[in-house]
Amino acid sequence: MAKVKCPKCGNRNVAEYLWGMSAFTEQLEEELEAGHVVLGGCMITESDPKYHCNNCKKDFGGPPIKMNKDGSLFDYAIETRKISFYVGGFFGGYINTCFEKGESDCHYEVKPGLAIDEYNFENNRTGKQELSIEEWNKLINKIYNKIFLLSWKKKYNNSDILDGEQWGLEIQLTGKRQLNYYGSNAYPVYWRELINIFRPYAKNAGITLRTNGNKMMI
Ligand SMILES: [Zn+2]
Repeated sequence: MAKVKCPKCGNRNVAEYLWGMSAFTEQLEEELEAGHVVLGGCMITESDPKYHCNNCKKDFGGPPIKMNKDGSLFDYAIETRKISFYVGGFFGGYINTCFEKGESDCHYEVKPGLAIDEYNFENNRTGKQELSIEEWNKLINKIYNKIFLLSWKKKYNNSDILDGEQWGLEIQLTGKRQLNYYGSNAYPVYWRELINIFRPYAKNAGITLRTNGNKMMI
């Protein structure tokens, strides 16, 4: 069985697509019956999904490529220029992490916002830090292929709680295109994994990336 959870509903009852011609073996039939695999057919495109959720019936995963209106392909992994993430609250302030791909090199920066009680000035290495292209590519891979960002909702909102914690994730793409995700006391299925992506960079800048979200995750 696929060792992933569905980014839409969180269910782990997920089947992996099998694309192309398949020989019908007994094992394949068993896998199909058990819902571990699903046949995708023979028409293979650049943006076929990798997984199918048996619970909510949605597809996800696969290359982060979508077709433009004119039929050309848009590869999010290649076209991503900047990744900005913040989490925090009105009273404690917001921690910001920002990753940017320049013409020839990549950088990141972590800012503690107003949370100066957490801010160890001696250990903190703020300001722009260099990021190798390998690190950037790893980051991109995690964002699109491990936490399935393109399958997230744009807004996660729990209006029962006032103030509390807010977060935002903004991806800047070439051609002024953007992806924006926002949450207020509500979190995506892959929240913990998202925090784990940014936590080492915050730590490197002497900042502890804290969130109420991990407690609230099932
Ligand atoms: Zn699902």
